[in-house]
This record gives sequence, C-alpha cells and structure tokens, in this order.
Amino acid sequence: MPRPTLQVETLVLLCVGLLLLAGNGPFWRAALADRSWASAASWGFAAALFVAFSAFYFAFTSLLATRLTVRPLLSVLVLCTAFASWYMDHYAIYLDRAMLRNVLATNVHEARELLVWDMVPHLLLLGVLPAALVWWPQVKQRSIGRALAIRLGWVTAALVIGTVSLLLVFADFASLMRNHREVRYLLTPGNVVAALAGNALAGVQQPAQSRLPVGEDARLGAAWQARSRPVLFVLVVGETARSQNFSLNGYGRLTNPMLAQRDVISYPNATACGTSTEVSLPCMFSPFGRARYDEAKIRTHESVLHVLARAGFKVLWRDNQSGCKGVCDGLPAEQLDHAKVEALCAEGQCLDEVLLHGMEGIARDNQGNLLVVMHQLGSHGPAYFKRYPAVFKQFAPACENENLRGCSAAEIMNAYDNSLLYTDFFLSRVIDFLEHSQKQYDTAMLYVSDHGESLGEGGLYLHGMPYAIAPEVQTRVPLVMWLSPGLRASFSINQECLRKNAGNPLSHDKLFHSLLGVLDVQTRAYDPALDLFAPCRPAPVVTVIGPQNAH
Ligand SMILES: [Zn+2]
Repeated sequence: MPRPTLQVETLVLLCVGLLLLAGNGPFWRAALADRSWASAASWGFAAALFVAFSAFYFAFTSLLATRLTVRPLLSVLVLCTAFASWYMDHYAIYLDRAMLRNVLATNVHEARELLVWDMVPHLLLLGVLPAALVWWPQVKQRSIGRALAIRLGWVTAALVIGTVSLLLVFADFASLMRNHREVRYLLTPGNVVAALAGNALAGVQQPAQSRLPVGEDARLGAAWQARSRPVLFVLVVGETARSQNFSLNGYGRLTNPMLAQRDVISYPNATACGTSTEVSLPCMFSPFGRARYDEAKIRTHESVLHVLARAGFKVLWRDNQSGCKGVCDGLPAEQLDHAKVEALCAEGQCLDEVLLHGMEGIARDNQGNLLVVMHQLGSHGPAYFKRYPAVFKQFAPACENENLRGCSAAEIMNAYDNSLLYTDFFLSRVIDFLEHSQKQYDTAMLYVSDHGESLGEGGLYLHGMPYAIAPEVQTRVPLVMWLSPGLRASFSINQECLRKNAGNPLSHDKLFHSLLGVLDVQTRAYDPALDLFAPCRPAPVVTVIGPQNAH
C-alpha cells in the first residue's frame, strides 16, 4: 500500500483523538460517573469534553511538533499514555506529582516488579502499535513561512473550539472540577506531562544544597546529667504496613504473634502524613508535618535527625529500600538492599533482617549515644510474596502473581498478611538485639509505617491516592514502641501512663517532637504538645535556689 501523505496537523489531531478515546478509560469513567446514558445531556457533556480536550491537547502538542519532531513526539506520548493508563486502570491510582515521583524514585528492582507480563498485550495494542503507525505516513513539506501561518491558524481555531465547547457545558464542568478535582490526575498524558514539569520545576527551585537549619540550639537536657550509660535508640520506618491488619490493633488474624509476647505498646489510631513514601518520609521527620504541610519547606529544612546529631547523637541510617529521601542528607547512611548476605539476599534484593546484619559490631564499637534508623522494604507491593521467606507462608494460598488482578481478594490478603508476619518477626529480632545491648546501653525501639495500602477495597490497590480522598486503609499506620527498663527509669517515663493513652489519635506530626522529648533534647524547635511522652513524664524539675537547697 502506498504511504499516505499527511499534514503535521492532521497527524497530531488523529493521535490526540486516539489518546483520548483509547488511553483514558479511568478519566471517562470518573468524569461521567453517576450519569445516565439515556439522557441526551450526558452525551452532550461527553462530546463537549472530548472536543475540548482534543483541541487543547492539539494546541499544546502543535507548539512542539515540526515536520521532524512530530513523529518522535507522538510516539513518546502514545507510549507514556499506554503505560500510565494500564496502571491507573489496574490499580485505580491517580497520577499526580507525588505518584510520578514515587514511580521515578522506585529502584530498578521494584520497577521490574511493576512491569507485569499481563500489561504486554495492552502495551502492544495501545502503545507500540500506534507509536509505530505514526511513522507510516509521509509528512507534507512546506516552506517555513507557510508552515507558521498554517500552524497559527490551526492553533487559534483549536483554542477557540476548545473554549467554546467547555463554555457550552460550563456548569457541569465546573461542578465536576469542584467536586472531583482529582479527575484531572486521570487525564492522560496531560497528567504525566504536568507531573514531570511540576517535579522538574520543584527541582530547579531548590538545588541540592545544604539544608536550612532546624533547632540550632539543640543540646542534651537535664536528665542527661545524672545518667551513666549512653542510649541506643532504633527507629524502624516501616513500609506499606496498615494499622487495620495488625493483630495488636484488633485484627482477627494473628499477624503479630511475636510482638504480642513482648512488653510493647501499640498505638492503633496513628495516621500517616502522606499516602506514599515520597511524601510521608520527608514529612514525618520534619517539624512541619501534615498540619503545616509545605513540601518546599520540608525539602529545604533539616530533619529531626540533624537536630539529634547536633545534640550529640551519632545518627546512622540503614536502608533496605529506596533511600532516605533527603532526610539523612550529610549523615552516615548505609544502603543494604544490594548487600551480599547469604540466606538474606538473592536476586539483588534482601529481606529486612539485613538491617540487623552487622549491628552487634556497630553497637560494640560505638562509645556514645547512637540512633539507628532502619528503613524496611516491609510490605512493598505488588509483590507482597517476595517480602518474606518461605517459613512465613502461613496464610495460604497466597497471591504469587505480580499482577494483583490475577489473584483473588483472599489470596492478596494472605500474601499481604504473611509480609506483616515477617515484619512482626523482624521487629521482635530488633527487640532481642536491644535486650542484649542493655549491658552497654539504655535501649528503645519505635516502629512506625510510612503509609498504608489498599488491597482491593472499593476496587483500589496499592497506595498513593491524593491525601484528601485517600481511604483510611492508606492513611492509618501501625506504631509500636518498646522501651527498655533502663531507658524508662533513667528518663522517668511512666510506661503505664503511655499504655493508658495509647488509644488516643496521633499522627506522624508527633514523631519529630516525641523523639526530642523521649531523648530529652532541648531546643526551641520542640513542642511538648506534640510529644507523646510529655504527659507521662514528671513535669520538668525547676531548681529553686533558696533555703531548701542551702546546707
Ligand atoms: Zn512507602
């Protein structure tokens, strides 16, 4: 068949039409939800949206499309759309900046898990095939002056047609945007392009320089004067564990058999700062938190780890995941996910026990106070079944398919719960280690997950929903604490009081102040109202100089 000759504009128009029709299932379902197809108004609304978005996509793409760039440009857009639409369709995710950062920050191994065989037919049909077809027609050659004039005419017409179409259904469109603002994150590939541009802009605004100081006046408080031993504090940052599936918090299945036998305190009503690692991790270590959430401020300021380091703690970040997201900038860190520890690591990935590997030596060789953050791989999906060794395959049959849609709800839950069983075991091993270290240190462990997970409830999977509309399973996280008797005594912490208050709601926002509080680090950045421990410690001792003190 002879190759047809098309104008650049025709090629772009055909392509954006295809993208909107074939690559935007989730957008159309969300935008047209609750509408009856029997009514002509619904058809009118759908047609107006289609014409408007085609026109705007066309106008935008036309700014970059020349005879030479049009085909590579359209190929990239088509492939992006095919990828994005598969994920949005399968996991009911919204592609906003945080989600895209999540995807881009995912390490290679996790990315490989996300590339599921089931997506291949979808990618071939909606991505590779149209991307190849773009190269088939010949593109009409024109003089520059003529090309510019024609393009200007097309773009102007597109903007006018797009605007008029939207105005025709403006009341409906405005109410959609007011009630379901998040549908804009479903409009592909605009969502991908906007997220990329937004992230690039944010990157330009704050070059990776040293962070603005927080708590410059930090120093060890009065409780330190009387103590004879240093402190070893382990903070475990969990991954994708949700509060609802912890038996410590009332879950029907015994997912915490080991922790249940320890003297731990579990906080069933803790909420995360975000629904993704990229948001939660920087936020939970920052003084700003969700209450005063400001992404730019969080990223440009020091974290509580820097404050503790300034007060004299040796801080060490040990990571079995995708890094500390800037929280430990300039502090000692060990990336262990590619360690070569026999029985724990295989195929370039390690089980979370690797985080304990070598800790005996670190504890022994250290003289002063030590805070170790262990960043787990936890229950990172969708391959929950890869997060635990075979002995933890207790809930069966477990989903062993990386495409969760290939498993039943029960199988997915089984695999997820098995991964929590392994976290339960890992945390009890951390406590074992801290119990053994009591000869040298006063010790404690605080465990908290970064965010929860959807396991098919309401058709949702994974996490990363925009916070305002995220279901509770994504925002409620387990928080578990273990304090050695030595640490409690030396910091005058009343464990029964903590236990009594454990049912109160709390959030990641308390982590910053609670760490400073429990370790008695004094700084103006500290707010006792956000310190979990403050109500369970005697009021600060005020030294009265007077007759009582005179001898
Ligand atoms: Zn996470």
